[in-house]
Amino acid sequence: MTPVPATAGGTSEATMTNTQHVYQRTYPVNPDGKPYVHNDLGLYTHNHPTPPADVAERHAWLVGSGIGSLLAAAYLVRDGRMPGENITILEQLAVPGGSFDGAGDTERGFIARGGREMGQHFECFWDIMREIPALEMPEPYTVLDEFRTVNENDPNIDPCRVIHHQGKRRDTYKMGLNKKGQLAMVRLLLAKEEDTYYKTIEDWFDADFLASNFYTLFKTMFAFEQYESLTEMKRYMHRFLQYFPGFSDLSCLRFSRYNQFESFVLPLTSWLEDKGVRFQYDTCVDDLDMDITAGRKTVTAIRYHRADGTQETIDVAPKDLVLATIGSCTESTGYGDMDTVPPFYTDRPGGAWTLWRNLAKKSSVFGRPDVFCSHPHETVWESVSFSFIGEDHPFLRKIRELTGNDPLSGRTVTGGIITAEDSGWCLSLTMNRQPQFRAQPKDWGVAWAYGLYPHAKGDCVRKPMIECTGEEILKEYCYHFGLLDQFEEIKARTKVRLATMPYITSFFWPRGKGDRPDVVPEGCTNLGLLGQFVETPDDCIFTTEGSARTAMMAVYQLLDLDRDVPPIWPAQYDVRALLAAAKTMNDGKLPGGKVITRMLKGTYYEDILP
Ligand SMILES: Cc1cc2nc3c(=O)[nH]c(=O)nc-3n(C[C@H](O)[C@H](O)[C@H](O)COP(=O)(O)OP(=O)(O)OC[C@H]3O[C@@H](n4cnc5c(N)ncnc54)[C@H](O)[C@@H]3O)c2cc1C
Repeated sequence: MTPVPATAGGTSEATMTNTQHVYQRTYPVNPDGKPYVHNDLGLYTHNHPTPPADVAERHAWLVGSGIGSLLAAAYLVRDGRMPGENITILEQLAVPGGSFDGAGDTERGFIARGGREMGQHFECFWDIMREIPALEMPEPYTVLDEFRTVNENDPNIDPCRVIHHQGKRRDTYKMGLNKKGQLAMVRLLLAKEEDTYYKTIEDWFDADFLASNFYTLFKTMFAFEQYESLTEMKRYMHRFLQYFPGFSDLSCLRFSRYNQFESFVLPLTSWLEDKGVRFQYDTCVDDLDMDITAGRKTVTAIRYHRADGTQETIDVAPKDLVLATIGSCTESTGYGDMDTVPPFYTDRPGGAWTLWRNLAKKSSVFGRPDVFCSHPHETVWESVSFSFIGEDHPFLRKIRELTGNDPLSGRTVTGGIITAEDSGWCLSLTMNRQPQFRAQPKDWGVAWAYGLYPHAKGDCVRKPMIECTGEEILKEYCYHFGLLDQFEEIKARTKVRLATMPYITSFFWPRGKGDRPDVVPEGCTNLGLLGQFVETPDDCIFTTEGSARTAMMAVYQLLDLDRDVPPIWPAQYDVRALLAAAKTMNDGKLPGGKVITRMLKGTYYEDILP
């Protein structure tokens, strides 16, 4: 069946009001007249879409230059065939990338606010990254080729997921869930999403569950607080069910060669610049003027201010597009270092929240930003970047002892986080492949670390993490890694950079229907919303893929492209993944395993058993 060409001139009323549009296109239909769910289509969805006839006369304004916005620009160019010079990215900061940051030098040390655990099933992200020229590999290799080559030649494994008693390894193979805990997980999987709205994790699970190994691994891997959203935990369980068997050693994860700014933002921005896409920095968008009539909402102007305070306006034509990032987990980050406590900004909403709040005043279809951004004391945590100098640095020796890996070999080191489970701050530390920064000296090891409970007292420094200088934080880490006796030497050979992020888990705040707006909110004719606070059915936030998906949905829907957004990998419907997850949760013994084995023995399906 030939795809139906896109409506000439772009969007049509009928498709704009259907939030499921990009999930279930109207073709092909099954005999009941219902659309086949996209899962049936596979590679069939990878067609070149037909762009709107007038695309060359249209312009796109993108608010924010986070990965979501950069990807939206790339989909506009590749799939919408919009000329690059018609696309402008407006960013309040002086650099692109948003949370995908990474910078530093030998003077101050290196810093990234986060390190990304990534996976194969970032369908929208890889869909475009497989076409962006690689950072280091020669043509015709792409960012995906580079990522895959690195990970195939050096598969990820975390040989020391948890430590305790000041630097002693602890076995985490067993999940430690009792029957009641396992049943609570099954009940959560079976629950309708609306039955989880405004509930917290601790509303659903008992103290035994929250003290289990499984929950320690879960909360530190994904950074959940137990007073946060049950709905989001449910989504993670569905979305990452296939990861359960790899939970204890993180063999389920993949990592980029360098920090994400260098591995992804650099190649993507150079590709966009080559296509003519313009970047305008120090530009904070405060509001969008809209023409709102019954059933239609059209952006007519973008209001912004420059870093020097001057106010300016961009006029937007009805057929132009505005794609705006709303909310940000790294908005209003406060920075510190060895001697400085980072400021904790509780009253600086920044562009990300101001713009969303102003939109929300215009119509309820733009959601409720205050649900997410009103609790900085609860949604804050602090990230730490350590630069350890010299190959015989005590921390590098300790990491070698715990993991069996040479930290400076260029290969996987910790393979994900090491968590100190008996730490008051709930400390974790990870050292990815070195060098993490291309400007990093060969004998430096750069590690990223965070504390999930920044208000709790440290076990050695006896202060909340959030009130500490880099030196105090380094001391607490030395204590938990059994290196306190070498603290003076470590201090002299380490650089510390700190980042306190008031909204880092704000997207996990308990929520309900309508708190997050749709990617193209009802009635919007030329506005799409991007990022981590936008509703994408079934997908998860705090992921790269979550932002990529909003970008693809917005572009395809607003340009009415006849190409489907790739489905979320359907592991939750795969009986093999379900059985393997159940076996992991029950500490290696498949529940009902005897009966299932007897049933399948000698049959075609025998080998689906984990
Ligand atoms: C510590 C940490 C750990 C993480 N771990 C993982 C992980 O393991 N795996 C994973 O997949 N993902 C992870 N993430 C999440 C991932 O990095 C983010 O989801 C993703 O980068 C978000 O991209 P975004 O474009 O949606 O928004 P952001 O990165 O938040 O970017 C938004 C950009 O828009 C700008 N902006 C916002 N509003 C305005 C405005 N009004 N005017 C002008 N500019 C504006 C901001 O300055 C910013 O540059 C992590 C993030 C952090 C911080």
